[in-house]
Amino acid sequence: MTDRTTRRTPSLAPLDRLRAYATAYPSYGAEQIRRRLTTKDDDAIHADLMILLAETYHRQGLRRAAIETIADAALCDARLPPYSPRRLATLAVSADLAVFDARVGALPACNRYLDAAIHTTRPNSRRVLHAEALHTVAVYHHSSCVRGRAQLAMLTGRLPPADSVAVMLRHAIAAMDDGCRPGCQTPPTRPPPPLPGGVLRPDLHTPPTDYLASRVTRHPPTHTCVFVPTPA
Ligand SMILES: [Zn+2]
Repeated sequence: MTDRTTRRTPSLAPLDRLRAYATAYPSYGAEQIRRRLTTKDDDAIHADLMILLAETYHRQGLRRAAIETIADAALCDARLPPYSPRRLATLAVSADLAVFDARVGALPACNRYLDAAIHTTRPNSRRVLHAEALHTVAVYHHSSCVRGRAQLAMLTGRLPPADSVAVMLRHAIAAMDDGCRPGCQTPPTRPPPPLPGGVLRPDLHTPPTDYLASRVTRHPPTHTCVFVPTPA
């Protein structure tokens, strides 16, 4: 028997295809995600789509739209079970956006992400490691360059040197060193490398090598080192 209604319904892009669009063609990806959001999905899928849309806007450089969308995603999360992985992804994207913009709320956002990671996953999990790493960047920007760097070095020391996350962390330490070197400025990476552990790139084991360094170099640190500014 042929279901004519089904045949007339336009096909919906699955999440994997939307991820691929968002990565390669963010503008088209955002359009497709918005279209998919107009259809009836269960709460978990809807939350995934909202998080992915926020990450896609971020990739496009539309950070105001990204911030508003991730705030909406947090409201959707309230309908999910308390330990849904979507909540962690939402908190991760919120913290990442706050660090990227060096907002006053970056440290509290990173604390919320880290607390949720600790309470939702096992100790020393990859999720906790990534949350701790992002937190060190907020410390570096807003509190103390020396403390942020020391905390990041300590995290790196817990990993085998060849581990992909360790490689990413060492790049970030080098970026922190550059930030405390007079006259050393690193051009921004465009588009911003995706956050490990969001919906766009859920993988926590092989993050983009330049992800964390790209967040470090977005803003100068709060110097507690012996930094001497370059004379004008
Ligand atoms: Zn410094």
